[in-house]
Amino acid sequence: MIRTTNPLVGGRPNGRVPHLSLHLPPEWVSGALCAQTDPEVFYPQVGGSVRPAKRVCAACPVLAECGDYALATGELDGVWGGLSENERRRLRRQARRTGTPVTELGRAAT
Ligand code: SF4
Repeated sequence: MIRTTNPLVGGRPNGRVPHLSLHLPPEWVSGALCAQTDPEVFYPQVGGSVRPAKRVCAACPVLAECGDYALATGELDGVWGGLSENERRRLRRQARRTGTPVTELGRAAT
């Protein structure tokens, strides 16, 4: 089963409505490399590797915009902007602790 909220690849896990369906997609979406990739890559099962998704993200022309978006909107699931769920969680904690904008921390991490 495909488990994704990434509007670039479609889907809605756990009955959640993909957040971008509620808004106009940001301009950067048209450059998204994951739109041409198997969506399951971005939502590995528990214990699965995020490396294949990160490889796609590393070559993506909108990596920074995508990472900013996921961090700014509090996206919880999947790999976005080359950042895994755990990495984004850590960055959000660090941002709260230090008062540094989370998008600034995200850009430094990728
Ligand atoms: S950075 Fe990764 S998740 Fe974001 S648009 Fe590009 S390929 Fe998709």
